Amino acid sequence: MKLLLQFWIATTFIFFSFSNTKAEEIDLQDIVNKVNLDSLIENVNQLTGRSTVYIQGVADTIVSRHYLHIGNEKAFQFLKNRIHDYGYATDSMVFSATGKNLLGIKEGELYPKRVVIIGAHYDDLPNSPKAPGADDNASGVSAVLEAARVLKDISLPYTIVFAFWDEEERGLLGSAAYTSSFGKNNDTLIGYINLDMIAWDENLDNNVELHVRPVANSLDLAGTIQNINEDYQIGLKIQVINPGSGDSDYASFWKNNYPAVGLNEEYMGTDFNPYWHTSSDIIDFFNFQYFHKISQLAIASLAKFASDTSISVGISENKYLSDNIKVYPNPFSDKIVVKIAEQDQSVLSFSLFDLRGKYILGENIQNQQEISLPNYLAKGNYILKIQSKEHIYIQKICKQ
Ligand SMILES: [Zn+2]
Repeated sequence: MKLLLQFWIATTFIFFSFSNTKAEEIDLQDIVNKVNLDSLIENVNQLTGRSTVYIQGVADTIVSRHYLHIGNEKAFQFLKNRIHDYGYATDSMVFSATGKNLLGIKEGELYPKRVVIIGAHYDDLPNSPKAPGADDNASGVSAVLEAARVLKDISLPYTIVFAFWDEEERGLLGSAAYTSSFGKNNDTLIGYINLDMIAWDENLDNNVELHVRPVANSLDLAGTIQNINEDYQIGLKIQVINPGSGDSDYASFWKNNYPAVGLNEEYMGTDFNPYWHTSSDIIDFFNFQYFHKISQLAIASLAKFASDTSISVGISENKYLSDNIKVYPNPFSDKIVVKIAEQDQSVLSFSLFDLRGKYILGENIQNQQEISLPNYLAKGNYILKIQSKEHIYIQKICKQ
């Protein structure tokens, strides 16, 4: 036990609220209004062979996005061109002989190392030259593209990654590769929103499933999404599925202890899309109003997560930060020393939480400061949060 406490424990998450930082003003109603159904539909038409796409300037059509078909690569190039057209940087993540994720990056204005991700898989089924995969999952991909379009001229404090996963249908391979290497650049994940099948609502009940698990602050994210649905009168009936299914890319995030939620049509419920994974999964069967509403909810939630620095977030202890900070001795009795190797040490603060994330105390500190913790602290484990201009460091400490 003692030995363990001297290391960063990458799998431990702490929940707390940034009550000392001010929320950015952002007009979520304006963002809801900007989500455009025609744009959503045209994206799906392009991804499913109904509309011409231009890849490196050449007219083409995408008729199957199955990973073994040429349309899979065409879809990747189409998405890459589109994200570039919106003015974002892109990153390609090759994870196997056939698998390639596309990541569009909107850098945060204030905290570029804090990242919110919205993602959808672009590969599809069946393994056939004709695999439109309109609902599964051109619908989700279209909403991610629409998020990129709507937010392109809005400045936000946190970084947004627009993620297009490949080979979800083979077992979440793209998102698994991404989440297992996330954090190597010292990034902190604020939250992930997954969109997978968001356009089928045959019985017109507006039921949407919100998949969540009690991992990191996933439940807080889900609560915020529910509030946005109410506050902006999106009109969806949210069914919280907890624990969420393991069948889409959010599961890769949970598996790595990252905060994640997923929105989708009835998958566990009775109104299930009968064309799922067939060559008849086409846009003709969409409920357009429903598709529009889920897209609005997802994009407004994304903007909220990326802008409101006061909302409760879960921060992972980051195993890649251990060189930047030293906290000793640990275990401690009354005094503990904090030493930080950050370039910019103008803003440093520490806060102490109990293991359930309840705030106990905190103050601004100097580098290499010796902190005396009050005598009334009971013996046991605590969470120390050190915040610099660029990073948040979390370490479990033990009073003995
Ligand atoms: Zn599928």
